[in-house]
Amino acid sequence: MNFPHLLSPLDLGFTTLRNRVVMGSMHTGLEDRARDTDRLAAYFAERARGGVGLIITGGYAPNRTGWLLPFAAQLVSPTEARRHRRITSAVHDGGARILLQILHAGRYAYHPFSVSASSIKAPINPFRPRALRDVEGTIDDFVRCASLAREADYDGVEIMGSEGYLINQFLAPRTNKRTDAWGGTPQKRRRFAVEIVRRVRAAVGDDFIVCYRMSMADFVEDGQSWDEIVALAREIETAGATLINTGIGWHESRVPTIVTSVPNSAFVEISNAVAEHVGIPVIASNRINMPQAAEQILAEGRVQLVSMARPLLADPEWVRKAEVGAVDEINTCIACNQACLDHAFAHRTVSCLLNPRACHETRLVLEPVRRARRIAVVGAGPAGLSAAVAAAQRGHRVTLFEAADHIGGQFDLARRVPGKEEFAETIRYYTRMLDKHGVDVRLGTRASATELVGFDEVVVATGVVPRIPAIAGVDHPMVMTYAEALTGRPVGTSVAVIGAGGIGFDVSEFLVTGESPTLNLKEWKAEWGAADPQEARGALATPRPAPPARQVYLLQRTKGPQGKRLGKTTGWVHRASLKAKGVQQISGVHYERIDDRGLHIRVGPRPRLLAVDNVVICAGQESVRDLETSLRARGIQPHVIGGAARAAELDAKRAIREGTELAARL
Ligand code: NAP
Ligand code: SF4
Repeated sequence: MNFPHLLSPLDLGFTTLRNRVVMGSMHTGLEDRARDTDRLAAYFAERARGGVGLIITGGYAPNRTGWLLPFAAQLVSPTEARRHRRITSAVHDGGARILLQILHAGRYAYHPFSVSASSIKAPINPFRPRALRDVEGTIDDFVRCASLAREADYDGVEIMGSEGYLINQFLAPRTNKRTDAWGGTPQKRRRFAVEIVRRVRAAVGDDFIVCYRMSMADFVEDGQSWDEIVALAREIETAGATLINTGIGWHESRVPTIVTSVPNSAFVEISNAVAEHVGIPVIASNRINMPQAAEQILAEGRVQLVSMARPLLADPEWVRKAEVGAVDEINTCIACNQACLDHAFAHRTVSCLLNPRACHETRLVLEPVRRARRIAVVGAGPAGLSAAVAAAQRGHRVTLFEAADHIGGQFDLARRVPGKEEFAETIRYYTRMLDKHGVDVRLGTRASATELVGFDEVVVATGVVPRIPAIAGVDHPMVMTYAEALTGRPVGTSVAVIGAGGIGFDVSEFLVTGESPTLNLKEWKAEWGAADPQEARGALATPRPAPPARQVYLLQRTKGPQGKRLGKTTGWVHRASLKAKGVQQISGVHYERIDDRGLHIRVGPRPRLLAVDNVVICAGQESVRDLETSLRARGIQPHVIGGAARAAELDAKRAIREGTELAARL
């Protein structure tokens, strides 16, 4: 049997989970509108058919003050509960169990009616909460929500007690300054969480899963101490919880907890340590994305389940592929957050950069074709790869031309950036899929219009080349493109980076990090000041970043702060990394010339010489469209996608979506 620990059932006494894979809660945006119920059901059903043991929905508020946003998801009435039956029955048909997550946003609510333990504003929200007066009424609302979930045929509920939401706000001295029965001592701060679990259990009976998501490391000042965390775990068990899930960090934490640069399985030891103190199963989570790691966690540790949210967005067949030993066919989540959490925090429907069908299952359908056609795809970057694989999957006969001797395009560059090594998994996935679906891959072949005559459809995905700005001396030998810098051209000890977009940030990180970019867990913790929660309240220490490998200047012409267009949930990590490494960021720059002395710039009226050894150009890209022009001259009307269609604002999310959508239409 493949992955015997991961795939073995778990008997909870009154019900059995078919394996140890939990699809963790992720708010998709589909929860918020009744009209999206069938889309949400289709999204969960695809993961249930893919073999997941237990699914946890996105968060539903137990009352209005708990809304994440005005009119966001809630479960407060029998009418709403009836609608949920479409979700629960779709998941049960797929053989999985499903829990409804009850989430009260507390001071993270983005509306003026928010409440918290005390009236203290969150640093990431403009709304100041009121101190909650009707604590008993709020507990009743949690209980009503759980009872309605039972009516809706859920197998249980998850009570969201982590990530800095309301219950977590009651638990931590940072946010709970109350002097009544719900604050003042650690035990009184815990009372809200424990009473919710106790009264929910009393209301729903014994044969209903009550999972409590617990903050095991707050990563904020004045967070919980280890003694408090352990005491909470014990009291939650006594109050009647079936499972304890792991939560790590608050949304306002300045320690990253889920981005690509966080080492895999980084927080499993914390879950193991909590599991030592309780008899009920504990679920590990965060930065677990492949079956080998999940199996190892279950085989060696004390936890009994692993939770993954994003990896199951990226690949709904994750469990089935593990079952049949086809791990190399898994489309591995690269923790980029670009289409999932960045969308969620911008209040847009969530999807996945790698799998644009996620949350669009009813709309983006790859049906088998009736008549196979001959399709040429030119360019094996993200756009061309997704088009070629999806078209071949549907049954077309696809030939993929690539001028380089390898596939990947811009992904092949991205994987060289420190903390983005997992982008190589996407190249591995596509390599396998091209082979599995019989795509005829012609590497090292620059397809001409003549060679493409005779195909039924031609897809031009020839991508981009770096833009070379018109600066005097830009052809000086000290100047190189980002592609050259990332692929090993030697660079000196002092470097100017022209352009502070996503690639300028990535290249600066690459340059300051030096020869051994991958941090082990100990180094990563030192870099970010992440302490062991057993040693420090709030799990914080003083950050001790390694010294930079070289001096880097990051420049842009636009005035004001840099990196404003970086991802909502990842941009702050990149900005903090560069600051910690002493990168000098200069905005409002006018580039004068480059010569043997270095880069001459002007900032306002002041001329300045940056006496650097090298200048790296990260000034955006330009589309490569020569092939399109010559095809049109021959009367062939190609489909142009990805960077070849539009270089501005290009990212892999758009490229893969365009490739997949085109393949669905061909
Ligand atoms: P970009 O984000 O458009 O940034 C280009 C940079 O070059 C800007 O800072 C721009 O700033 C500067 N620039 C543009 N034209 C110039 C010129 N003629 N002379 C000098 N400077 C010039 O492009 P990118 O950095 O190449 O990134 C490409 C895409 O990949 C983007 O959509 C990005 O979102 C995505 N990406 C994202 C990430 C991430 O989120 N971490 C990482 C990599 C790539 P000024 O005009 O102010 O000088
Ligand atoms: Fe993972 Fe990125 Fe997809 Fe989110 S968008 S699920 S982080 S690959």
